[in-house]
Amino acid sequence: MTDGPSRDMAGGLLSIDMTALAANYLDLARRAWPSRTAAVVKADAYGLGARQVAPVLERAGCEDFFVAHLEEALALKPALSPGAKLYVLNGLQPGAEAACAAGGVIPVLNGLEQARRWRDLAVSWGAALPAVIQIDSGMARLGLSEADLDELLADTTFFDEVSLAVVMSHLACSDEPGAASNAGQRARFTALADRLPAAPRSLANSGGIFLDPSHHGDLVRPGVSLYGVSPHDGPNPMRAVAALDAKVIQTRDVAAGERVGYGLTYARDTPGRIAIIAVGYADGWPRHLSNRGAAYYQGVRLPIAGRVSMDSITLDVSALAERGLTLALGDTVELLGPHQTLEDVARDAGTIPYEILTNLGRRYHRTYVEDPTMQQLPVSPRQADARS
Ligand SMILES: *Cc1c(COP(=O)(O)O)cnc(C)c1O
Repeated sequence: MTDGPSRDMAGGLLSIDMTALAANYLDLARRAWPSRTAAVVKADAYGLGARQVAPVLERAGCEDFFVAHLEEALALKPALSPGAKLYVLNGLQPGAEAACAAGGVIPVLNGLEQARRWRDLAVSWGAALPAVIQIDSGMARLGLSEADLDELLADTTFFDEVSLAVVMSHLACSDEPGAASNAGQRARFTALADRLPAAPRSLANSGGIFLDPSHHGDLVRPGVSLYGVSPHDGPNPMRAVAALDAKVIQTRDVAAGERVGYGLTYARDTPGRIAIIAVGYADGWPRHLSNRGAAYYQGVRLPIAGRVSMDSITLDVSALAERGLTLALGDTVELLGPHQTLEDVARDAGTIPYEILTNLGRRYHRTYVEDPTMQQLPVSPRQADARS
């Protein structure tokens, strides 16, 4: 399966390992067991392609999919089986209620006004509508406050019209196992959720799965770790999913002192060689990597020489000559792969792996690599349990 421009025309080749993706899902599902494991596929599955990624996760046993926007849910729905549940984390925008209900999508109600509008629609349709209720347990982002909850519960018929599918909250510091706020949020979430009708509880994102199991609840919601990113500092327990290679579009000799790129910010003390690759900041390779990041060729580090341009990057490839290596037009260098992880790039760029992933551009030739044995995926713990 491929997507984007053809291999010959593209400036970069993005390879997405579906076997690693499924393995990451199963790994997280085992860690979270007996909680159910959803998948967060917002922002086009963190840039990797929701229409390709979500069906593979479904085959691995996933039944619950979270996106950020209603539009994302409606676009993804045809790629999944009719029984799959789609939830919209950003909630319901005024006027979008009917489209949400007609699409069979479950909104996350983040505030009283959204709750009332959803309820009004249910009344006018004469049928109860499912919803997730999000409680703010101490992040001051989305969700009902305690006062909101008081007001909602004062309305004694609300849950006749709205069926509570899941009650959720979100952790502010799940990637910091030592943070006291995790236990505090868990306790607050439990206390507030206890006041609602019985429903599955959901608190943990990727990082939350690696906290002690009291943070798991009934449904965990990993995103980034499905795509290979470590849920915390320290050795990465996940398998890499994305690999990116960039095409060399020109090489040139430079003299000692000859300046390179916009702003003329790079020069060598000795003569050397520069390679230009066809990936730039318009492809999501951060401009902040100017004179700090690198690419790799056969394990040799090739520092970024000068500023990252919109459509190209200049690399100092002088180190190749002493190893008897050369680069020619059409060769590729590694931007993400065995020598450089998303974590490495994010660190050099002063950001987090999430941002590097979700910015990966639309101009790459994308290959979705599936191991042929994937058709017989090991069943997830949930499926195994259902069968026994
Ligand atoms: C994005 C998001 C997640 C997934 O978080 P990761 O850190 O990528 O695992 C889970 N829950 C909510 C509410 C989110 O916004």
